[in-house]
Amino acid sequence: MFIKKGLVFLVSCLLAACATGPGGRNQVAFLPDAEVNQMGEQAFEDLKNKTAVSRDGRANDFVKCVANAVIQKVGGRWEVVVFDDPSLNAFALPGNKIGVYMGLIDLVDNQGQLATVIGHEIGHVLARHSNERLSQEALVKQGMSVVGAVAAPQSALGQLGVNALGIGAQYGLLLPYSRKHETEADIIGMDFMSEAGFDPKESVNLWRKMAQASRGRQQSPEFMSTHPAHATRIEKMTEYLPKALQKYNRAISSGVQPNCTK
Ligand SMILES: [Zn+2]
Repeated sequence: MFIKKGLVFLVSCLLAACATGPGGRNQVAFLPDAEVNQMGEQAFEDLKNKTAVSRDGRANDFVKCVANAVIQKVGGRWEVVVFDDPSLNAFALPGNKIGVYMGLIDLVDNQGQLATVIGHEIGHVLARHSNERLSQEALVKQGMSVVGAVAAPQSALGQLGVNALGIGAQYGLLLPYSRKHETEADIIGMDFMSEAGFDPKESVNLWRKMAQASRGRQQSPEFMSTHPAHATRIEKMTEYLPKALQKYNRAISSGVQPNCTK
């Protein structure tokens, strides 16, 4: 087992995959980012065709205001869409795509709580969590066929990878993230929101609300995922709060002060 793990790591290192993500740990994520981004873009288009996009002006303005403030800090071009769906959910896809559901917008009390969600989702994308998950699945379960799938999707080897990973329809990108990825996105998200001038104390408040609201409800796929348990998540965020508050105070004293109203 140890040897197998070591071999897997070596193989991925040879493929130049031992990058360090924004969470500061070594990652095995070796698929070409351009291809993974393309998968994310395609999955996002599919979703927009399947789920009604909200035309609620207030909700869209609120989400755009918060998202733009965070994006200004992290850079890049992002597409943020509000879905007209009562789920308490949000998700992010490679290729800089973010979806927020109306149910979640209804739940939040203020801009800081929505910034928690947006920061968390951007955190997943910038930490390349989808690439890492697909790479790990490829190595552990499917050998290297996914590399063929991505490099040459029409080839026999490529088709094997496409089918094995289910990336033809779902791209394997909308599955729940692991506990490790959730915790990492929480912390990265707290940094992003704080640097953008949103009070990180609201992240803890949001998760308390989520814990309350999720009682008796079916857990949704991404943002409400069962791992980590709400209590563990709130504990880790509370632990990180003093560091996030330092960033927040620095942002505020340099004049960064978003004012987005629900
Ligand atoms: Zn997440």
